[in-house]
Amino acid sequence: MTPEWKISPGLSVVLGDITKMRVEAMVNAANSSLLGGGGVDGAIHRAAGPELLKECRSVGGCPTGEARITRGYDLPAAWVIHTVGPVWRGGDCGEEEMLACCYRSCFSLVEERGIKSVAFPAISTGAYGFPARRAAGIAVQEMILALEKGKSLKSILAVCYSPESCQIYLDALEACRKQR
Ligand code: ADP
Repeated sequence: MTPEWKISPGLSVVLGDITKMRVEAMVNAANSSLLGGGGVDGAIHRAAGPELLKECRSVGGCPTGEARITRGYDLPAAWVIHTVGPVWRGGDCGEEEMLACCYRSCFSLVEERGIKSVAFPAISTGAYGFPARRAAGIAVQEMILALEKGKSLKSILAVCYSPESCQIYLDALEACRKQR
């Protein structure tokens, strides 16, 4: 069984591989070409099959902070929402706001399509070097806001690839609760 913690109404932290999650949409931490890459991007493209790359080619890229939606092909998810996180450059280049924009852009596509469930990886915290704790704070805040404001959205999975990452998300939620 996949370890899962329900940390807030509609929000769960899950340890595992995002490509295996049974959700309507999964978010890909893509690069601006949308033509695939390493990390979670590579895993999503491998699991979705070559049709995903074909559709991504037709999309024509995506700027940092924005998101684009495609079909999920061989993935369990019907949709993939590709978003391009900021590369961490020390924190003075608007990285935090840009990361929040990624989450908001994903949630506007979710609402536009009437999607009920979505899984997110920890955007920007791998190759793009965003500090994991700061990123989790932003992620959790935007997720809670989206669940409060959303009409179609009912469930979010914050998918963590390591137990350390799960703990970071649980701590971030605790901090977010204290702030409110
Ligand atoms: P970025 O370029 O946005 O930093 P990465 O794919 O390098 O994207 O990493 C983003 C996060 O996704 C990292 O925390 C990494 O551990 C995690 N990750 C990598 N592969 C998977 C996967 N298959 N499922 C869930 N998370 C993953």
